[in-house]
Amino acid sequence: MQISAIDAAIDRLNGGTYGQCAKCHHPIGNERLAAVPYTPFCIDCAKSFR
Ligand SMILES: [Zn+2]
Repeated sequence: MQISAIDAAIDRLNGGTYGQCAKCHHPIGNERLAAVPYTPFCIDCAKSFR
């Protein structure tokens, strides 16, 4: 689970969309990327899934 999330993050890095939320397409934010570097979602979208 975590490994595939990291693979997906590397794909986004290669595709130039790393750091961009997969849901709302806004920037994820450096603080969140520092905490969870492989997250595909910004903090607002991550919260909305709970
Ligand atoms: Zn978002």
